[in-house]
Amino acid sequence: MSAEPGLEAIYERYADLFDAEAFQATAPPGDGGADGEGIDLRAYLREFLAIGIEGHRTRALQDRYLEAESRAVARVDGETIPYRELPVRVRRAEGREHRAALEDARLGVVERTLNPILEDSIGIVHGVAEELLGTSYDRYCERLAGIDFEALQSEADRLLEKTRDVHEDLLDWFVRRHLPGVRREDLETHDLARLLYGEPYRDRFPGGELVDRLTGPVRAMGIDPTAEGRIEFDLEDRAAKTPRAFCASVRVPDEVKLVLRPYGGYDDYVTFLHELGHALHFGYVQADLPMEYRRLGDNGVTEGYAMTFDHLMHLAPFLRKVVGMGEVEEFLRFQAFRDLVMVRRYCAKLGYERSLHRKGPGPGRSDEYVERLSEATGARAPDRLWLEDVDPHFYCVRYLRAWMLAGAMHRELRERFDDDWFVNPAAGPFLLDLFGLGQALPADALARERLAVERLDFGPLLEMIRERI
Ligand SMILES: [Zn+2]
Repeated sequence: MSAEPGLEAIYERYADLFDAEAFQATAPPGDGGADGEGIDLRAYLREFLAIGIEGHRTRALQDRYLEAESRAVARVDGETIPYRELPVRVRRAEGREHRAALEDARLGVVERTLNPILEDSIGIVHGVAEELLGTSYDRYCERLAGIDFEALQSEADRLLEKTRDVHEDLLDWFVRRHLPGVRREDLETHDLARLLYGEPYRDRFPGGELVDRLTGPVRAMGIDPTAEGRIEFDLEDRAAKTPRAFCASVRVPDEVKLVLRPYGGYDDYVTFLHELGHALHFGYVQADLPMEYRRLGDNGVTEGYAMTFDHLMHLAPFLRKVVGMGEVEEFLRFQAFRDLVMVRRYCAKLGYERSLHRKGPGPGRSDEYVERLSEATGARAPDRLWLEDVDPHFYCVRYLRAWMLAGAMHRELRERFDDDWFVNPAAGPFLLDLFGLGQALPADALARERLAVERLDFGPLLEMIRERI
């Protein structure tokens, strides 16, 4: 396996695909529109090409970024630590001073090495938006996706408003309980990361036989977790392997790889279940669908299935039957808290990222990042992350819609197949039928047509969170 990223070479091999001419040739009739209407094969293809053009123009920067990220090391308290290991080390550090030193070292690398590359990249993709659609980057992403960002922002703002008090109460409770010596008003992002690591619950998640244990329910639903060999699990511990888990859909549905580097505890469970949701979705897409429906379209859908699976960890019967946990109440409360922090964080990110792309990088943006993220999470966000904590091409939009979709999925699955739907053989065909569609329908249309949801919103998710606190 190669240690070089090599993106540049790949983009050069397919350079013909990634030019403005190919993009203009795929303009859908009526130009897509931002209301979800008129989305068709060409709109999906056009968005794919636009992302490809951005990738092509930034290919050298992407290689530089990946290389810098994999080579960077930091010296903390006499120890040399690879940059990529720092987030895990931060979460694991119990002593606050050492944790702060690890975080400072991580942010130092971000500021010195990564931010300059990211700032150049933003300039380039803003230029692509101007060239291809003659508009700002946020408007361009919105039009290509056919998703109304303004409406989503209103939903996100409503969630932030509606959950402010309950988030504050839970944060107080967990800080007092699990972060002795840290005052609520001094809370920093690295403290929150430590809190969400869930140290007190870690020994309740046995590390052995992770795949067998977590694919058990899938088999009980009558679904082959390998999709007749199309899905391959790679959980091997290799030194050069990225610590980030992912699902690679090499050819949909024929070749799907779930890659994870387990490091113990419940994170592995959540991550494996998330990637399993992706893998099953891609592995069971109908092979005869057009390529655009099999692998392009609204990634809020595949993220929604992934979150449907990782939210199994919010179900008491799952924790009892599959994880083998006895007392589940406090852990469920912790899960609700964790989910709430994450979804609030993404709500704030959407507002921040729209502002960043509309106004462009410059003075004031890092302050705005700190203000919005600190307010949403209750922990002071570091200004040095103002570029690194930005999702390429507004992927935060897909996650927010995925949260909504996963909430609706859980409600529907529970209504149809009871609380322990995840071991109900009747639930299997229902899920396989949805997976078969690929991403032919965007998340909102899917919820309307298949889950009897009038309008996709955070309602079912918040209901699920409230039940557990
Ligand atoms: Zn995902």
